[in-house]
Formats: sequence, C-alpha cells, structure tokens
Amino acid sequence: MTDKETKNKKPAPDKFMPKKPSGGKPKFNMSIIYIAIILILGVQFFFSGKTPVETTWYQVKRTMLQNGDVEKIVVLNKNKANIYLKKESFQKYKEELGSGYSAPDVNGPHFFFTLGSYDSFESNVKEAIVEYNLEEFPITNQDTYDWSGIISFLFPIALIVFFWWFLFKRMSKGAAGPGGGIFSVGKSQAKLFDKDQKVTTSFKDVAGLAEAKQEIEEIVSFLKNPERYTKLGGKIPKGALLVGPPGTGKTLLAKAVAGEAHVPFFSMSGSDFVEMFVGVGASRVRDLFKQAKEKAPCIVFIDEIDAIGRARGKNPNMGSNDERENTLNQLLTEMDGFDTNSGVIILAATNRADILDRALMRAGRFDRQIHVELPDLNERREIFNVHLKPLKIDATVNIDFLARQTPGFSGADIANVCNESALIAARREHSTVQKQDFLDAVDRIIGGLEKKNKIISIDEKKTIAYHEAGHATVSWLLEHAHPLVKVTIVPRGKALGAAWYLPEERSITTKDQMLDEMCATLGGRAAEEIVFEKISSGAQNDLERVTKQAFAMVCYFGMSEKVGNLSFYDSSGQTDFSFTKPYSEKTAELIDSEIKELVENAYLRAKKVLTEHKEGHIKLAERLLEKEVLFSEDLEEIFGKRPGFDHHKTDDNIIANNTDTTANIEA
Ligand code: ATP
Repeated sequence: MTDKETKNKKPAPDKFMPKKPSGGKPKFNMSIIYIAIILILGVQFFFSGKTPVETTWYQVKRTMLQNGDVEKIVVLNKNKANIYLKKESFQKYKEELGSGYSAPDVNGPHFFFTLGSYDSFESNVKEAIVEYNLEEFPITNQDTYDWSGIISFLFPIALIVFFWWFLFKRMSKGAAGPGGGIFSVGKSQAKLFDKDQKVTTSFKDVAGLAEAKQEIEEIVSFLKNPERYTKLGGKIPKGALLVGPPGTGKTLLAKAVAGEAHVPFFSMSGSDFVEMFVGVGASRVRDLFKQAKEKAPCIVFIDEIDAIGRARGKNPNMGSNDERENTLNQLLTEMDGFDTNSGVIILAATNRADILDRALMRAGRFDRQIHVELPDLNERREIFNVHLKPLKIDATVNIDFLARQTPGFSGADIANVCNESALIAARREHSTVQKQDFLDAVDRIIGGLEKKNKIISIDEKKTIAYHEAGHATVSWLLEHAHPLVKVTIVPRGKALGAAWYLPEERSITTKDQMLDEMCATLGGRAAEEIVFEKISSGAQNDLERVTKQAFAMVCYFGMSEKVGNLSFYDSSGQTDFSFTKPYSEKTAELIDSEIKELVENAYLRAKKVLTEHKEGHIKLAERLLEKEVLFSEDLEEIFGKRPGFDHHKTDDNIIANNTDTTANIEA
C-alpha cells in the first residue's frame, strides 16, 4: 500500500489525481552552495589583497637604508620584517612594487624579508644607521597570528569536509527514505497508522470477496477480543497471506483492516527492505518487529512480499541474491521468534504465491492463505455498486448488464471502467453517464483506443474482413466455441480487427470445448486460405494462442492419448526447466508431433466448416466491409440460431469476454 493510495479514498487511478504541492518547506537548491563558495572566495581575495614584496637584507641595507628611504621597520613574531618606506620615497620603488590589485599602496608595508635572528637584525640595523648617518627610526616587534595564512590553510580543508558531509547526507537521505539520515538507514521504513492517523477505508468499501473478508474480519476480531479464542485453547494466527491476481483488492482489504481494527497498523512494501547497503534489509526487519512488539497488539502489512520472500536459491554461487536471502532469513526468524500470543499479526499480499519460499508459507508463519480471486458476476455487480456511487449515471444504466459485460475484469479494471466512462461522457458533453459510455469504456479497456483514421489499403481491409468473418462463422457454428458478441474491422490498439466473445464462466474446461475454441481461433487463417488462396501475417496472434493451448493440452492436462495422463506442469514454480526437461528426447519428439497434429486437425476442421458455409461466410464478410461492426443478431440472420446452443443461458450466465485480434497484419 503506497502512501498516496492510503490517503486517496477515491478509487480513480493515480494518473488522474492532481499532484499535491510538496509541503511548505522551500526546496534546497544546489546553486545556493555555488553562490556561497564564490562569495567566500571573493571575500578571501578581497581581504588578502595588498601584500608586501619580498626582498633581502642586502637590498634593504644597500638601497633603502643607504638612501634614507625607510620610515620604520615592524617585525612580526621576531621573524618577519616589514619595511615601511617614506611617503616621498614611495615613487622610487614603484617599479619593484608593481601595479595591480595586490600591489602595496603608499601606506605600506612595502617590503618584507625573513629574519635569521632578531637580535643580530636589530644590531645590523643600528650599525647601518650609524654607518649611513641616518636619522633614528623605530624598529618594533609585534607578536601576532598570521590569520590569513591560517585561513588559507584551513579553508580548502573546510570546503572538502563540507562537501563530503553534504554528499554523504544526501546519499544517506536517499537511501533511508525521506527524513532518514545515515544512522537511520537500518531502521524500518514502515508507515504507522494509529489513532492519530485515521484510515477511512472500511470493509464496506470492499465489495464481494465474502470469504476473504470473513477470514480477515476474524483476524481483526482476534485482536479486539483475544479471550474469546484463547479461552477455548485456540491460538491467534501469526500471519495471513493474501494471494491473487493483480487488482483484485488485496491492498484494499489490508487498508480496510487498518481502518477497522483500531490497533496500530504498520504498512510497508517488500521492496522497502531492499537497499544498496549490505545487511540493511535484515536490520530493517529486526527494527520493524521491535517496533511492532512495542506497539502490540498490532498488525504489520507487507505488500508485494515476493520482493523479499522469493524462494532461496539451491546453489549459492549461481546468481543467488545474498542480501535478499539474508533479509528473508531474518523475516523467517522473526516470524517464528516471537511469542504467538504477543498480538502481532503479519498480513502480506502477493500475486505470486508460487515463487515464495516454502518456509515462509508454512503454518506457524503464514498460518492462513487467503485467495482473492477475480470477481464473479455477483461480485462484479457489488463492485460496480461501490464505484458507481460517486458517478452521476443515467436511469437507463443497468448494473446487472454492466456486470455481465465485464467478465474476467478485476476490481481495479471495474474501477477503471467507471472512471473512464465518466471521462468519455464528459468528452461527449453528456449531463449523465450513459449506457453507451460504459460500453465504450469497456471496449477501450479491452481493446485499446479506437483508431478510425488509421490508413489501411482496400485489399488489406478486405483481408481483415474475411479473416474476422472466418472467426465469427466458425465460432457461431461450433457447439462449444465461445458465443460471439460482435465483430469489428475498426482498428483498435494494436489490432486491425477483432471478434469479441462472451465466454462461459466455468471452473473446468473439457477437451471438446478446447478443441472448438482452437478451431474458432484458426477460423481467420482458414478463411484467408480458402478465399484468397494465400495467407498473411495477420494470424500471428491466433497461431500463438493456439500453439500455447495445444501445448497446455498435451503437456499439462494429459489430453493426448499418445503422451498419456502425464502433466509436466510445475505448480511450485521452483524447478527450473530451462536447463533440464522433465522428459526424454523421445517424449519431446512425441509432444511436438502431438501438438502439431492437434493444431492441424483443428485447422482442417475450421476449413471444412468454412467450405460448407462458404456462402454465409462471404455474405458476412461483405456486410462487415460495409458496416464495419456486426453483432450476434447479424450472424443469426445469416446462419440461423446457433446449433445446440441455449440462447436463454447466454443471457443469464455467459459472461467472460475475450478479444481475438489480427494484430501485426501489416507486419
Ligand atoms: P496488486 O496485486 O497489483 O497490488 P491489489 O490486489 O492489491 O493489486 P488493490 O490495490 O487492492 O489491488 O486494488 C486496486 C483498486 O481496485 C482499489 O483501489 C479499488 O478501487 C479497486 N478494487 C479492487 N477490488 C475491489 C473490491 N473488491 N471492491 C471495491 N473496489 C475494488
């Protein structure tokens, strides 16, 4: 659960959300640093200007003293003599003193030299005064610090230290998330929701998912009223794993728990444990559990746990991720390490339970696995009810109808349909969202954006029309193929045409059903061959699907007599078949030939159906060329009612949707 999601009660996708201003604090800007450096350098340059010119005692004696040009001599720390010239003599030395910003001015000091011994210097000067018959002038000694020397020595060091500190701070900030410093890099990144940070999502916002909700509600009740269970000897479960396809409401369920449990709720994503520093993941797990134990009873939610919970590698040297495994090991230890009744319940969500480590899934860690599946008709109806609430819908919109038109849709897809339909209605300037807006939103989500202006030649259009009519004809005439809803040759997304079906919602599929579906999928290519006596690349998508289906029938479902009742499917997802196959070369050959035979037979059957109903097929294709979109009523008019098909049943129960595309026809 991301922060953003937690704050947004509205189900619309993130991309439509206005961006929040990023807090009141002004943003730190790198240019401030550059300006500061330039200023400091400038100030240093300014104050370090007017430096005396170095000379020697010989020069001082032979020229300056001999000519009587010296006004005074100031000795610094008994080792550096600064010579001040008389004002009237200044011009004489102009050349030696030079010009420019740092050249000494008339006030001096003008020259300097380093002394060997102060006492001998003093006597030497006195001797020179006598020798040249000069007027007495003062020689004073000043004990001072040479600040400019100290500054110019320290300044570069300070600059380097500052930069180092600055970079380090930035790096550690990035590493430890907002607000974190280098010392908090090993701290848990979990977001805590408690009394002060109310979560407004409740179980009412989660539609359908009755069984999952019941299990989760039980966990909440464990926390609220543990005695009810412990007095009968029951133990509070340590964890529950929500497993299911994307968008089915796992995070939403967890949010509802946070809203309803009235106990502290720690939320983080599996990837929050991952860091570029070694050992941080494990340290964050330790910290998370430490915090959780302090706040017990509480709930810890880890979204997308597969980021750290992936099965540990068998060969530690073969590309295994040590850091991730250390994090997982720490999680395993922590989950087993604390007392069962300490009141910390771990909720986790994943799409990929098959790749999780088995040690993580065992009872005692995640005691419960809650499967959150794609919603069925009734559940879709309930989800529509939730997401239609904020929309202004037309009285003609029937929720039952919408639920039927969206088979195979997840909760997130339904939320998207509702939002998309509102946007379509707004674009059309409707005052309410109408039925057609919803249907267009469904089509857009399944097939992509309609591209009416795509340039397609007349020949190509004809090929597409006959191809699609081929699918429609074969599927209409075969008893077990999916019932057709509409067929179109308007390009949409990547597809140039599509046949839309409403497949039966079923839990098991028979061999006959699979064969008929394969046959209908090959109807497009068969039609091209029969009508034009040449084939095109447009059937690539069909062939891919048919090949996969035939492979699954032979290798997974044991539907080939010659291969037998064998399944090479690996539901654990932990065996790597990419290097070794679980069957011999001989079986591999047999599998290949069986797959080929299955597809070939389906293709011949499709050709037979089309040849027998050539007239109807041509009529359908021509009508499609003319109208671009045809519905099941048009097919019924041409071919009559579907053989052995209960039309009444279609209306009530058949709901899944599917597209069959002729993508890449231009390739
Ligand atoms: P993923 O596995 O990809 O993280 P998820 O299962 O966690 O997906 P959620 O984030 O919970 O999916 O769902 C996404 C959105 O879909 C929710 O914010 C909500 O708007 C909608 N949604 C999903 N399922 C339901 C439901 N049962 N009832 C109401 N809305 C739902």
